[in-house]
Amino acid sequence: MSQTLSAEFGTAHVAHGVGRLTPMIMSKAKGVHVWDEKDNKYLDMTCGIGVTNLGHCHEGVTKAAQEQCATMVHAQVNIGFSAAYLRLLEKFLPHLANVHPSLDSVFLWNSGAEAVEASVKLARAATKKQNIIVMQGSYHGRTMGTMAMTKSKTIYGLGFGPLMPGVFSTPFPYYSQFGLPESTPQSELISSSLHQLELVLAQQTAPTDTAAIILEPVLGEGGYVPAPDAFLHGLRKICDKYDILLIADEVQCGMGRTGKMFYSEYSGVRPDIIVFAKGIANGFPLSGIASRKELMDLQKPGTMGGTYGGNAVACAAARAVLTAFEEEKILDNVAGRSKQVFDFLDKFQKTPAGSVIQEVRGRGGLMVGIQFANPKMQEAQQAHSTAGLNASSHNTTAAEAWQYHPSDAGEQLAPKVVQACIKRKMLILSTSCFDVIRMIPPLNVTEQEMQQGLEIFAEAVTEVAA
Ligand code: PMP
Repeated sequence: MSQTLSAEFGTAHVAHGVGRLTPMIMSKAKGVHVWDEKDNKYLDMTCGIGVTNLGHCHEGVTKAAQEQCATMVHAQVNIGFSAAYLRLLEKFLPHLANVHPSLDSVFLWNSGAEAVEASVKLARAATKKQNIIVMQGSYHGRTMGTMAMTKSKTIYGLGFGPLMPGVFSTPFPYYSQFGLPESTPQSELISSSLHQLELVLAQQTAPTDTAAIILEPVLGEGGYVPAPDAFLHGLRKICDKYDILLIADEVQCGMGRTGKMFYSEYSGVRPDIIVFAKGIANGFPLSGIASRKELMDLQKPGTMGGTYGGNAVACAAARAVLTAFEEEKILDNVAGRSKQVFDFLDKFQKTPAGSVIQEVRGRGGLMVGIQFANPKMQEAQQAHSTAGLNASSHNTTAAEAWQYHPSDAGEQLAPKVVQACIKRKMLILSTSCFDVIRMIPPLNVTEQEMQQGLEIFAEAVTEVAA
């Protein structure tokens, strides 16, 4: 084995600031499997954080990328129109029209964070207003702008300030964000969230200063929480009332992950700008925003663009992704596998070992959040409900319960289950906050592969819960 392909070499020379789930050296991958340098085979329930949605090295995508490599790699978008870009749009525009027919103008970029920043630039240019409202628990990226907009965990921005100013936050309609019990009716959470948003607009950033509200329609790193339709409708109403743009960051929940091409299709709520990345090119760096032409046209030529945005190979790969969605009926498979996952977890949750699972979240797709009962969070909630009476008798604050890191997870079960899965040669991730595991298999995972993944997961939970 070459010295180069060792964790020691990696540790010595790869930046220390990159968090890493395992010391494995990922050497090749196909479909739902990844191999390390010693040829150990892992079942991949991460898709490289929701990216390789059609499995690793999908045949059609690989072929399209190879052909494009031999034709033209770099069709720089400031020089002229790129044929690969236009061919991708031909196939992609109908999907955007399913979200809303107004989404007819597209800007392609490389990463999710860049695309989020592009959406902020567009919102500011179009409205001539500056401030942005984000949701608590959100993750939008690691650039100076998106770090300021990320509110899932302090570590992402820790020590990097001052960050982009003009970012305000408001709670997502999820019980933990209010320190309320799980049994709190959804309608109450929605009205509390919308009320808090109105307060932010009354007390912190005036509507006349506020360019946009951006949200992940399914909170990703913040715990895999789907936004209820009524909440999205409420947001739309507030945006319309105050002339504020609504931006849907579908970087993680888009591209078929939730059973529709975009999660926004469930509610039918029109975003003014939609942001996409990750699954669009199955691993090639491609991202972008779509909006209506009259908004996009408010950004003057020369104000958008960059060297690599909309790379031709990535565009060809993305077109092949969309072809595969049609030809392989990917969304039908998502529906079937989603039912399989939820049925399995429902049954498992009723067993003694599975009773440590508090909630299984998701909406008809393969973006599944598995929330473990978290004694610290429950204690913090209790402390809240008795605050002022005998709060001092509780030793966990909400902040402590919320902001954990895998290395000091203590009683948290998710990080332990993740490690127990890895021991069984299955890759799986937790989310950044709460005690949640996210199961994000490829959208074309077979019934048998999915079953294997679920059984390994159940074994891992059983071991950890014992
Ligand atoms: N938005 C969301 C919702 C994300 O999940 C992510 C990545 N996890 C990003 C933005 C940032 O994307 P990237 O890492 O490609 O910059």
